[in-house]
Amino acid sequence: MNRYFHILICLLIASLLFPLPTLAAKKKKAVFSGQSSNSIRPSATLNEMKHWSNPDYTRISLELDRDVTWETHELGRGNIGKPGRVYIDLNRTRLGKGVRDITIGDGLLKGARVGQYRNDVVRVVLDTENIKDIKVFPLSEPARLIIDVRGERRTEISRLEESISIMPEKLVVPVLEDQLPVVEKKAKPSKRPAISKIRRVVVDPGHGGHDPGAVGPSGLQEKDVVLAIGLKLRALLKEELGLDVVMTRSTDVFIPLEERTAIANKVNADLFLSVHANAAPNRSASGIETYYLNLAKTEKVAQLAAKENGTSLEKVSVLQAILFDLMANYKLNDSAHLADEVQKSLHKKVRARYSDVKNLGVKQGPFYVLVGATMPSILVETAFLSNAQEESRLKETSYQEMAAEGILEGVRSYIVSLK
Ligand SMILES: [Zn+2]
Repeated sequence: MNRYFHILICLLIASLLFPLPTLAAKKKKAVFSGQSSNSIRPSATLNEMKHWSNPDYTRISLELDRDVTWETHELGRGNIGKPGRVYIDLNRTRLGKGVRDITIGDGLLKGARVGQYRNDVVRVVLDTENIKDIKVFPLSEPARLIIDVRGERRTEISRLEESISIMPEKLVVPVLEDQLPVVEKKAKPSKRPAISKIRRVVVDPGHGGHDPGAVGPSGLQEKDVVLAIGLKLRALLKEELGLDVVMTRSTDVFIPLEERTAIANKVNADLFLSVHANAAPNRSASGIETYYLNLAKTEKVAQLAAKENGTSLEKVSVLQAILFDLMANYKLNDSAHLADEVQKSLHKKVRARYSDVKNLGVKQGPFYVLVGATMPSILVETAFLSNAQEESRLKETSYQEMAAEGILEGVRSYIVSLK
């Protein structure tokens, strides 16, 4: 009798120590960067929670002041159409002041709530409406955790657009001035390829603000060069092809990668062009290459993706592991086709003046800036900033113009080929 009583007490203590909900929940655990949640390091602070509603997915970004480990738990989202709940526990994290619950109501999520669940655990609860899939992965500079939710949206478009327009206050406002007076901005119809499906293009100069991107041997910064090329490209796309152009940035500001595709989706862009300058540990590496989104086939590409994603090789492999799910709506074939046209035209343009320029071809890589884009989207590496000779070319206005013209010609060929 005494012994049974003892066992009963033990069970009671165990149930208090390990509460049932974690056992009942469908539990997924992700511990990132090999650090256990018990390792001694300062705790992180969750500073901001933002969201974007896109036609095919909803994205939530949790901004932190350092990397965290996390655990994802799902409760009752198995049946489509039935509301459920997902919660993500951020280990060793404190809730920052001013982080508020958000109402989403876009057909996939009702909203996101946040709270200090335990002394050192912040819990983010997503009230789901109709979701099929959820992916959580880390990004750096600043440290953040991205939650992408996909599902079947039954909400009518008008309600969706309303929720899209409710963007967090602190969000950097995309440069939409080119897109507003659409009627006035239409260029001479003679120059627009007849009955084109392509009307609006997003030009995305990489990096910006506190993120210089690659830096050349003499100190030239990628963010400055690609902005110059991007602005020239904007003018050409408008003048030569009569397209509406939206810039993700037209000044020296930092815009997180996840926001860049969100801008493109929000303005219903037909193409997304991310403009970059390359860098490699081997300083003699040179040439032009164009990427579309897919798994990296070589270690070199994975390294470049880590650089362009502003993250570690380890985080790139976390991204690679879930990339196929994130690519559900990526226009793979169209993007490969666009990459091909742009690569050919850009190389041809530059070779006319620099006969030695290398054509490194079209490649695939896990570039986060392309994740979530619902239109054909590519990343162009216009030259190697890490190569002294190409750095000096990139510095010249004439090269920047040449690069913009090359990309323009690629877009033109792509549009013509669609007919
Ligand atoms: Zn870059």
